[in-house]
Formats: sequence, C-alpha cells, structure tokens
Amino acid sequence: MNRIGDRIVEPAGEARVAAQADVVVVGGGPAGMSAALAAARNGARVALLERYNHLGGLASGGMVLVLDDMWDSHHEEISVRGTCMTMIERLAKLKLATFPRQHEWGELPESYRRWARWGTFDFHSHKTPYPICFAASFDPDGWKRVSLEWVEELGIQLRLHSWFSRALMEDGRIKGVICETKAGREAILGDIVIDATGDLDVAASAGAPYVKGSYIMTTVFRLGGVDTDAAERFEYGEPAAFAELDKRAKKMIGNSWAHWWLKTPLPGVVWCNCPHMPGLDGLKVEDLTHAEMQGRKHIANLL
Ligand SMILES: Cc1cc2nc3c(=O)[nH]c(=O)nc-3n(C[C@H](O)[C@H](O)[C@H](O)COP(=O)(O)OP(=O)(O)OC[C@H]3O[C@@H](n4cnc5c(N)ncnc54)[C@H](O)[C@@H]3O)c2cc1C
Repeated sequence: MNRIGDRIVEPAGEARVAAQADVVVVGGGPAGMSAALAAARNGARVALLERYNHLGGLASGGMVLVLDDMWDSHHEEISVRGTCMTMIERLAKLKLATFPRQHEWGELPESYRRWARWGTFDFHSHKTPYPICFAASFDPDGWKRVSLEWVEELGIQLRLHSWFSRALMEDGRIKGVICETKAGREAILGDIVIDATGDLDVAASAGAPYVKGSYIMTTVFRLGGVDTDAAERFEYGEPAAFAELDKRAKKMIGNSWAHWWLKTPLPGVVWCNCPHMPGLDGLKVEDLTHAEMQGRKHIANLL
C-alpha cells in the first residue's frame, strides 16, 4: 500500500468492457428514465445504468409520492405532459396513481377538502388555502414496476447494481464510464453519455465546471394501518383540537411541511415527507449517515 499523508495512491486498474451503446445514460431516476426512453424511441441503442436495484430514483426509492403542480400559471391547462403523463396514465391504469380532474381545479372548498390530503395543491400560490391543481399522487413500487416494463418494451439495455465511478475521457471528450459492480469494475462505452445522477457525478468526474448547492435532507417515511377517514373527520370536525395535536406532532418530528402526512393510493397508508434536516452535505458519507440515524430517531419519537 502506497500511503502519502492522509491519501492512498491506488494502482492503475483494468475494467471489462461490459456494454457498448449509442447513448449511455447514468442514473435511472425520472430524468435518466426520460432520457433513455426518448433516445430509444428515436432509434438509438441505449444503455441505462443505475446503482440501486430499481428505477425511479428519489421518486420511487426516495418515496417522493406527489408529482406536484403541473399546471400553467394561468391555471387553465396542464403544463407537464410527455413521459411524465404516460407514466401517470400507466400507474392510474393499475390503480396506483390518482389526480384531480379539471373540474376540480381551483379554489372550490369541496375540492380542497377532497384533495388537500393527497397533496395535489399549488403550493407556489399565495392564496390560502392553496388552490387544487393538476398533480398526481402515486405508489413508489408501482413506479418501479412500470419503469421496468417500459424499458424492457423499448429494448433498453438496463444495468442495475452498477455504481458509476469514473468518466472515460479521450481528447477532451467522454467516451464511456466505469462502474463498480459486485463482479468488479466494468466499462460501458458510448457515443453520447448523459449524466442523470442528480449529483453531476459524471460531469464532475469528466472535469466539467459545476456549482455546489445544498438543501435540506429528509428521511421520508410511510405509515400503515392509518384510518385516514377518521383523521380527516377529526381535521374538519374539530379544527382547534386537530391543530393542537398537529402542532405537537410537528414538534416531535422536528422540521416538516404544513401538510406533513398525505394519503397515498394504498388504503390506510400515509406518506410523511419529513423530518427535514438542514445544514448537511449530500456528498459526505458522515452527513448522510447522520441524516439516516437522526431522521429515524425523530420518526420513533413521533410514533
Ligand atoms: C425528500 C424529498 C422530497 C421531494 N418531494 C417531491 C415531491 O413531492 N414532488 C416532486 O415532484 N418532487 C419532489 N422532490 C424532488 C424530486 O425527487 C426530484 O426533482 C427528482 O427525483 C429528480 O429526478 P432526477 O432523475 O434528476 O434525480 P434522482 O431522482 O435523484 O435520480 C438519480 C438517479 O441516479 C442514480 N445515481 C446517482 N448516483 C449514481 C452513480 N454514481 N452511479 C449510478 N447511479 C447513480 C440514483 O440512484 C438515482 O436512481 C423531492 C425530493 C426530496 C429529496
């Protein structure tokens, strides 16, 4: 082992060429899926690489359960369609997505009561309560299932459990990537490489300039066996008592949005987009580990 100060100098290695494609997409979240599907629909041979065992990124594995606010600023038409809309339609067919119809959009009190606990409101609005808009609540495992079926239909070479580690560069151009896998290091070569890691892993490794930002971290969780009808009856029937209990719950969780629990397409299962933890760095193992441990303590505290 060659150690210099707090650094280890690694020996140069070899990697098996595992795949070759016209377009290599790194990261199987919503962005990577859309890129891979679009390239395949246009006739390209596509390899889609993902470090985890599923597609969907934060939308499925991170349990981000509302495709929110997809209407235009005049509140007249749906502004996000394409792949996203097809995904919603496929999920809805399986009864794994739900969304308000156009006649329910806007500020009707009965619409708010019907949809607020699905999180399908326009949270950018300055109006209170928020207007109901076109947004969809979906099941995360449904997203995984539909994604796998879809990439298979289009003949995309899917490589799960492949963790991108390094860009392969030649004459200032990216020619492929190296992935760490259980079988060792693998090279995937392509004419075009698309970075959809959500963290610019590929672009940073290729030497592209970038700006590092930060945001809150959240240990999203779901709870089962919840009588959501009773909870909503309580919310609207006894608003003062509900507000008091809600305030106590939020204090126990730490940081959360106003609607910290939302309904999901699975009866009795609620989605909690909390607790939020500010001031952590999403690229640091120490901070990520802290967030996992701290987040679960907050959840246990609430339960
Ligand atoms: C707590 C939280 C709540 C949110 N709530 C909502 C919400 O309610 N509604 C909404 O619309 N949006 C929400 N968002 C935002 C939404 O999750 C993102 O906008 C969306 O997931 C971005 O998609 P993406 O494909 O760019 O990235 P990601 O979803 O992050 O996907 C990136 C993919 O790349 C993979 N990857 C990363 N690094 C590597 C690597 N080195 N090698 C191989 N694969 C790699 C990841 O595993 C992942 O599958 C939320 C985000 C968070 C964190």
